[in-house]
Amino acid sequence: MMIPFVNLQIQHEAVKAEVEAAMADVLQRGDFILGKALTEFEAAFADYCNVAHAIGVDNGLSAIELVLRGWNIGAGDEVIAPANTFHSSVLPITTVGATPVLVDSHPDTYTLDPALLEAAITPRTKAIVVVHLYGHPADMDPIMEIARRYNVKVVEDTAQAHGARYKGRIVGSLGDAAAFSFYPTKNLGAYGDGGAVVTNDSALAERVRMLRNLGQRVRNNHEFRGWNRRLDTLQAAVLNVHLPHLDARNAQRREAADLYDKELANLPVVAPKRMANCEHVFHLYVVRVPQREALQKHLQEAGVPTAIHYPVPIHMQPCFQDVLSYPQNSFPVAETQAAEILSLPMWPGMGGPEVSYVVAKIAEFFEKSEVVEEELAREVGA
Ligand SMILES: *Cc1c(COP(=O)(O)O)cnc(C)c1O
Repeated sequence: MMIPFVNLQIQHEAVKAEVEAAMADVLQRGDFILGKALTEFEAAFADYCNVAHAIGVDNGLSAIELVLRGWNIGAGDEVIAPANTFHSSVLPITTVGATPVLVDSHPDTYTLDPALLEAAITPRTKAIVVVHLYGHPADMDPIMEIARRYNVKVVEDTAQAHGARYKGRIVGSLGDAAAFSFYPTKNLGAYGDGGAVVTNDSALAERVRMLRNLGQRVRNNHEFRGWNRRLDTLQAAVLNVHLPHLDARNAQRREAADLYDKELANLPVVAPKRMANCEHVFHLYVVRVPQREALQKHLQEAGVPTAIHYPVPIHMQPCFQDVLSYPQNSFPVAETQAAEILSLPMWPGMGGPEVSYVVAKIAEFFEKSEVVEEELAREVGA
């Protein structure tokens, strides 16, 4: 059996005719920039996220940057972010000229550990980027309590968590603003790059709308120097078709995750933990195993591709060495996790036989290493 790491063909096939019709409608109208489908998507997505405003932008990286710019964060300011995340959670902090201050991961959820947050706050702290990593919501209640106490803004990086819930509330509605990515492999993916800012803050929403569109409120009156960071109408048309399927697909991801949990239970790998009262949406199914490199190699040879999200923590990335000065061991949890995490194949619609095949190959790896260990023990004994 050959297992892909993700399989998006299933979801594309299911809505192929609808997407073609939606695209044909855009072509017919010719409103490629800031068109009707974009306005419709922004309304539907705000509604889905239970917030007042959604603003379509060109990608997730931009979405975070525009939120920070919307809050006038820049040189001299500090923005807190987790040590274990995708590089694009932190890059925008440096793009606006602010300084990232990192916080270690929670040992169970891999998200920012709220117990370590307060110690990272200084008089310069203006905002916190909280990442719902792998699709598991960060522990938002204590994070928001601390943020409110210090009058610090919170932007959720929701790029991996479309539709996830924390204590019954949907992510994107938990902080002061949230930044989504619609990169094709995300839980809600476009047919190219895309992103959105969502917020209940009307002033921020209006500013982000202007920032993404050359500083204009009305055409040809450029109130400040902005950017061209709009979401294409064609991508919005695609997203309009896929959005109504998001919850069902997240449920399918959880079903595959439940199967993995059950079948991995007797093997020496640490399965993902789920906080009580949280709905994980399993953008990724990440296990932890000390023999990671050897297991990954074994799986690759057995036709099971895996990945590592992420092998290098933020403070060890070459691109941040001029702005960060954290020596090794500064974030022991994130560093240990980075050395042991392994993302297994996961997609909505991944079936029982596929999960069982992956788990059987993992079991085979441990049986083999047991045999090798026994042989070594015998040789040493002889
Ligand atoms: C994908 C991703 C981003 C960036 O999104 P793009 O649309 O690719 O720019 C940011 N943060 C996290 C956690 C992501 O997974």
